[in-house]
Amino acid sequence: MVTPSGFGLTRDPCFQEHAPSGYHPERPERLEAIEEALVGLEGAWEDCPPRPASDEEILAVHGLDYLRALRALEGQYAQLDPDTYSGPRSLETALLSAGSTVELARRIATGRLQRGFALVRPPGHHAERQRAMGFCLFNNVAIAAAVLRASEGLERIAILDWDVHHGNGTQHAFESERDVLYASLHQSPFYPGTGSLREQGIDSGTGATVNLPMPAGCGDPEYGAVFDAVLVPVLREFEPELILVSAGFDAHARDPLASMQVSTDGFAAMAARIREVADAVCNGRLLLVLEGGYDLTALSESVAAVVRALGAPETPERHFPPPTAPVRPLAAALREVHATHWRSLR
Ligand SMILES: [Zn+2]
Repeated sequence: MVTPSGFGLTRDPCFQEHAPSGYHPERPERLEAIEEALVGLEGAWEDCPPRPASDEEILAVHGLDYLRALRALEGQYAQLDPDTYSGPRSLETALLSAGSTVELARRIATGRLQRGFALVRPPGHHAERQRAMGFCLFNNVAIAAAVLRASEGLERIAILDWDVHHGNGTQHAFESERDVLYASLHQSPFYPGTGSLREQGIDSGTGATVNLPMPAGCGDPEYGAVFDAVLVPVLREFEPELILVSAGFDAHARDPLASMQVSTDGFAAMAARIREVADAVCNGRLLLVLEGGYDLTALSESVAAVVRALGAPETPERHFPPPTAPVRPLAAALREVHATHWRSLR
């Protein structure tokens, strides 16, 4: 049964099977906390069951050597990079994370659902073609975009990445592509070090990478100003057929890994704003995919707030606080840089 809002949610205990041998911030408890926060909201969504990615889907973004290397590690603990672990069931979970993202995206692309939120882990946006990185094994969002373009005839896909870290893997997957927009708001300077204003895409993809680096300490007014001054006009001008969001919640003021000041209401406002844009430009086709967010309270409350914003039959009225004086120069500077490639910013 399709809910009146057409909102699909993927959530399942299987995504807790990727587990570290000791403490790690990217831990199964993140999803347990989210489950608790969603109690009472049931009925706002249609459950979309998980399924593993096929090899073909993984290989749309990743190399065969990398997939084989992960297979060789199945059943054991291994350190894939200084930040990224693999446990006995991590490959299986990562395949489910990628495959479930593809499945939810496909249901949206084919009109069975209007919009969705994939509450999957491990996260994806740092994963590169040939290696795991930054807690990420497979690049869930990049795989969904690549597979949908290959199999559902979608040409133009916009990826918005509001995780506090720059999504190096996603940018690298599409930086030569004119028809896949990658736009990222991230703390800078910060891990992973990519995402500067100079990185605007390569060859025919020039202009379709829109990096919006922001200094530590930015919160709802800054995010709201950058949304309104740059992101929303660019998305409207790009005219995607689908919007994918790398939805991390580590820009929250309570997050232990980063230094931004976004509130729970701020995340709900971002979700409502992007839902409005999707309604205006691509028949509402919108999929959020969980990335980071490491304070369990901040993460779970923010996810629940976003679920409310996406599950409501009508887009709720959510407003960013008005930009304060120090915010305007930041938004104006970012707008000016990207105006070279975007008419709507001139
Ligand atoms: Zn992050």
